Amino acid sequence: MNKSEIHVLPKLPYDYNALEPYIDEKTMIVHHTKHHQAYVDKLNAALNSCKELQEKSIEELMKKLDKIPENIRTAVRNHGGGHLNHSFFWPLLRKNVKIKVLIAENIEKRFGSFDAFKKQFSDAAGLFGSGWAWLVVKKGNLEITSTANQDSPLSASSIPVLCIDVWEHAYYLKYQNRRAEYIEAFFNVINWDKVNENYKNAMRQNGGN
Ligand code: MN
Repeated sequence: MNKSEIHVLPKLPYDYNALEPYIDEKTMIVHHTKHHQAYVDKLNAALNSCKELQEKSIEELMKKLDKIPENIRTAVRNHGGGHLNHSFFWPLLRKNVKIKVLIAENIEKRFGSFDAFKKQFSDAAGLFGSGWAWLVVKKGNLEITSTANQDSPLSASSIPVLCIDVWEHAYYLKYQNRRAEYIEAFFNVINWDKVNENYKNAMRQNGGN
């Protein structure tokens, strides 16, 4: 394995224009090939000095940030988080996928209704500054949370099910300062098949606690 390619940019499971008009092609190209690639490159650079960490998956690294040597911990947190969050985000996007029964029922049970969930998730996505909003499983329950910058819910013992990137680079070319419009549009491109699968996996890992 090439030393500089411990972690690699994953291919998108669709074309760059597949989410039009909700998320535009130009944004997807820049977001994937420039922003995500930069997180991968900077993570690899940070891990260059630390052989045993190179063998660990990005999930393992983010779950145990306190075990990362202090001189590279911030770099792993920011760029490792950036790589992990974006790798998780891309497959969550797809047009024309109907919500699935399992996740729909559990969202309704937990939040009262889909609309109540949508409101709470959108509010979380309105966090100040750059970050992410998440639907996670924590101790067997669905929860909505947000993280600043590129922090991962895994670092807080939560298992992600769904997320939205609300860094300006995720929407600024099309929506400029109108983050709320982007969040509304996002609800048209949620790949509920993937969300349902993530929920099943999360409950398998964390459901019994
Ligand atoms: Mn991003």
